[in-house]
Amino acid sequence: MPGAGNFREWQAKAACRGPQAAVFYPPGGGERRDEKRARELRAKAICEHCVVVGRCLKFAVDSGEFHGIWGGTNESERRVMIGA
Ligand code: SF4
Repeated sequence: MPGAGNFREWQAKAACRGPQAAVFYPPGGGERRDEKRARELRAKAICEHCVVVGRCLKFAVDSGEFHGIWGGTNESERRVMIGA
């Protein structure tokens, strides 16, 4: 999810820039399992229409990013992808 860390060129094309970025990370006060699932589905729906989804996912996997939605995946899904 662009916005975290250093800005990269591809992040300028991210569909998640702007107010909708809030759904890509859990709220500070925590969330129930059903709330997490609903939030992640909203974020993933945005990723489905993002032109940089492949680059985003590669960046998240390569950098070991395990927080939030990146490239249409959540933390657990990325851990499975890298065998962590
Ligand atoms: S793939 Fe999803 S998380 Fe990554 S830049 Fe696009 S909208 Fe944001």
